[in-house]
Amino acid sequence: MFNVLEPQVCFQEVPGHIALGFVCTGCPLRCPGCHSVDTWDPKHGERLTSQRFLGLLERYKHLMTCVVFFGGEWQEGDLVYFLKLATQQGLATCLYTGLEDVSEQLKAQLTYVKTGRYVAELGGLASHLTNQRFIEIASGKVLNSLFLKG
Ligand code: SF4
Repeated sequence: MFNVLEPQVCFQEVPGHIALGFVCTGCPLRCPGCHSVDTWDPKHGERLTSQRFLGLLERYKHLMTCVVFFGGEWQEGDLVYFLKLATQQGLATCLYTGLEDVSEQLKAQLTYVKTGRYVAELGGLASHLTNQRFIEIASGKVLNSLFLKG
């Protein structure tokens, strides 16, 4: 099981969706320039239980169409479990990971994945230079153009 910060409604992280976002604490990647250093400690945040997760999905069900996890792939079995619960509620699913790829087991539960660690000189998804990719799993399409501004 992993801890998460207080969930936030996300309007820009998953194009075409209003998503409920869960930041998982305990990221082991240690990217230089990480904006979320306070989330590296796995004890930070609160344990995500099935009851808490399902309660949140119920509370936000009229507002959101997707659940997005920021990290959590280091506890793959638990992440797969929560993604399945979201899918069973008819929601799209997304994972933001700093890894270059994730397992087939995880992909099977995902509608979208954002891959690639944060490199300050290259920027995030809104940068033309970014090393990161936002992918629609079913089609394999890279949707980075939807994040570019101007
Ligand atoms: S993957 Fe994200 S949270 Fe983890 S260290 Fe890199 S920038 Fe920070």
